[in-house]
Amino acid sequence: MFRKAYIMIWESDTLETLVPSSLVQALKKQKYHLVGEHSAVKRCRWLYETIIHDRPCYKQKFYGIKTHQCIQMTPALFYCTQQCLFCWRAQSGDLGATWNEMKLPKWNSPEKIVEGSIKAQLKILSGYKGNPKTNRQKLKEALTPRHAAISLTGEPTLYEPIGELIKAFHRRGFTTFLVSNGTVPSALAELSEEPTQLYISVCAPDKETYMQVCRPQIPKAWEKLNKTLELLPSFKCPKVIRITSVRGLNMKNVEGYSKLIEKANSTYVEPKAYMHVGFSRLRLSYDNMPSHSEIREFAMRLAKETGYNIIDESKESRVALLSRLEKSIRFDEHGFCRK
Ligand code: SF4
Ligand code: SF4
Repeated sequence: MFRKAYIMIWESDTLETLVPSSLVQALKKQKYHLVGEHSAVKRCRWLYETIIHDRPCYKQKFYGIKTHQCIQMTPALFYCTQQCLFCWRAQSGDLGATWNEMKLPKWNSPEKIVEGSIKAQLKILSGYKGNPKTNRQKLKEALTPRHAAISLTGEPTLYEPIGELIKAFHRRGFTTFLVSNGTVPSALAELSEEPTQLYISVCAPDKETYMQVCRPQIPKAWEKLNKTLELLPSFKCPKVIRITSVRGLNMKNVEGYSKLIEKANSTYVEPKAYMHVGFSRLRLSYDNMPSHSEIREFAMRLAKETGYNIIDESKESRVALLSRLEKSIRFDEHGFCRK
C-alpha cells in the first residue's frame, strides 16, 4: 500500500453546526457515546454477554480477539456513501431529521479520537463495577482495551486520516478490524497502515440488487466497490467479504457473489444474518431476518459455487465462516497471527 504523509491542521466544527440536535439526542438515548464531533463508541451487546454470562462474541470464537477488551467505535458517525436498507444507523430522513451525509466535517485528530474512545469505553465499563454478576477478572482485563472494531456506523474510510487512526490504535497495542463498504477505493489504496483484518461489505450479487438494497449516494458506487475488490489481493492482512444477508432481498444469485469473491480472492467470506435492530426497524420488517439454518443453507450454496469451505459458524449470531484455509487465523493480544 502507498504511504501518505499528512499535514493537517486539526480544527473542529461544533456538533450543533453539523447535524440536527434532535439526532444527537436520539443517539444519546440509544446509548451512543459521542467522541469529539464525528466519532462515537457504543457498547456492543456481547460486552455485556461476556462479562455477565461468560458468552463471548463470534469474532472471539473465529479470530481470537477478546470480546471484553473490544471497543466498538466509528470515526464517521454521521457520514456514509450508502443508505443500506438493513443499516442500524440513523440515516438522514429517519425521525424527520435531515443532514447531508456526504458533506464531510473538519476532522478531529486520530489521537483525539483514540483517547476519547478509550475514555468512553472506560465509562461504559464503570457500569459493571456494582453488578454482583460481573466476572471480576474479565472486568479487570477489560479496563485495558486491546481491540478496536472500527465498524459501528458510517463509512470509516471517509475519515481522511483513517490509516493514521489505525496506526494510533496499533501504537497502543491494539488489534484493529476495519469494516468498509468499499466505495472509496482511493482511501484503501492510500492507507498508510493496514488494519489487522479488513472487512469489505458486499451485500448484493449484482448492480440491480445493489442499487435496491445499498442505495448508494455517490455516482458509480457499484464500479467503485468492484475496484476495491480488485485491490484486495494487494493487502497483506486477512480480508473478509461480509454479506449481510436479508431474507427476500439479497440471498440469491450465488453465481454473482462467487464472481465478486473470486475477484477479491478474500481470505474469508462471512454471510451473516440481518438483525432487526436500531433504525433498520423503520425500513425492514422482522420477517427480513433469516434464521441460522437459512444462513447455513446460503453458506453451503456459496461454498459449492466458490470452492471455499465452511470452516466455522455461530448459531447465536447467525453467521457462517467460509475459507480456503483449514482453520482461521487467530490473533493474540499484540496482534500477532497464530495460524
Ligand atoms: S468484535 Fe464486534 S461483536 Fe465482538 S465485541 Fe467487538 S464489536 Fe462486538
Ligand atoms: S454502508 Fe454501513 S453504515 Fe453505510 S448505510 Fe450501509 S450498513 Fe449503514
